Amino acid sequence: MAGKILLAGGAGYIGSHTYLALVAAGFEVIIFDNFVNSHPSVTERLAEISGAPVTCVTGDVRDSAALDRLFAEHDIAAVVHFAALKSVADSVKDPLGYLDNNLGGLVTLLAAMDRARCRNLVFSSSATVYGIPDETPTPETAERRAMNPYGRSKIMCEEVLEELATADPGWAFGILRYFNPAGAHPSGLIGEDPKDVPNNLMPFVAKVAIGEIAQIKVFGNDYPTPDGTGVRDYIHVEDLARGHLLSLQSLLSTGQGHVVNLGTGKGQSVLDVINAYSAACGQDLPFVFEARRPGDVPIYCAQTDLAKSVLGFETEKSLADMCESSWHWVTSQAHLKRP
Ligand code: NAD
Ligand code: UDP
Repeated sequence: MAGKILLAGGAGYIGSHTYLALVAAGFEVIIFDNFVNSHPSVTERLAEISGAPVTCVTGDVRDSAALDRLFAEHDIAAVVHFAALKSVADSVKDPLGYLDNNLGGLVTLLAAMDRARCRNLVFSSSATVYGIPDETPTPETAERRAMNPYGRSKIMCEEVLEELATADPGWAFGILRYFNPAGAHPSGLIGEDPKDVPNNLMPFVAKVAIGEIAQIKVFGNDYPTPDGTGVRDYIHVEDLARGHLLSLQSLLSTGQGHVVNLGTGKGQSVLDVINAYSAACGQDLPFVFEARRPGDVPIYCAQTDLAKSVLGFETEKSLADMCESSWHWVTSQAHLKRP
């Protein structure tokens, strides 16, 4: 296959699963990561699963010289850019740090790509760009109106990519707006590994299931949803990884960019998640209703037609698959007492 694929932030949760999907499809892949939110041992586990050594370069996407060295040493056909900070709460406390890492990192990476004449990039965007959408399921044409610095950094990144594609049609960008990634690889060797107490529902539920946290706090039971709790479109990380493969293949074969939602199109409530996880781990997980979390959207759900027509993308895995694989991951991790 002509040219390698660079995964910036490829040691993280979604990047590591995408690494496996790309290698399985025959791509030669390089991981570039500063490990601000991942552990270098991920590469050993990826080698164990794939049965082949992993090429990983430690570095920061804001480091032009490191990127120039990387592009000089390898013939890189395309980049998948995962490297970003992703905590909404931290972004409110440190908006400048989020702009520096997420927007600054993208601009520095694009400049290095430009110097190396590498013009294909898949970008990790998020459903959070929609803010509180007027329409659910939400189409890609919905207005972007994110409500926090993290979400606004994703809008700014999308705008930078749009500017560049308008200025020079030689660039091709795959902008993927993920809904709520969940689950883990069936090996139990890689998965979501939050360094602090998780803010997101699924990793929090996993910590309760494993006994590290006493009970789940359900933020609000008075939303205009079937059971009153918040509804999200949870997508299995392996389905999401396959979405990146299809996006890359589309960019490389057509030279045309796309902006697509990656979700299932199906909404699940907080209580649906707790029930599915309870079934997966074989115990009723304790929960308590609390006040709504400030800034939360009642319902998020993807319109999925465009991903299907442009990329041929459809999800295959269920909420039960997400909970079972997450449970397998957290129990294997506890067993092995990994760093
Ligand atoms: P993650 O934190 O597990 O992975 C991100 C990786 O990027 C980490 O390995 C981190 O060490 C690395 N990184 C961060 N800043 C870097 C820098 N300056 N230089 C080099 N490496 C750097 O997060 P994830 O869940 O895998 O998310 C991947 C991408 O998807 C992010 O851009 C995130 O904003 C986006 N996203 C995630 C979700 C989600 O719920 N997980 C939802 C929508 C969008
Ligand atoms: N949620 C919850 N308890 C938690 C974390 C989240 O009840 O400890 C709810 C949250 O209010 C939302 C849903 O679970 O309705 C998904 O939240 P998450 O933070 O995982 O995703 P996001 O809100 O960013 O889509």
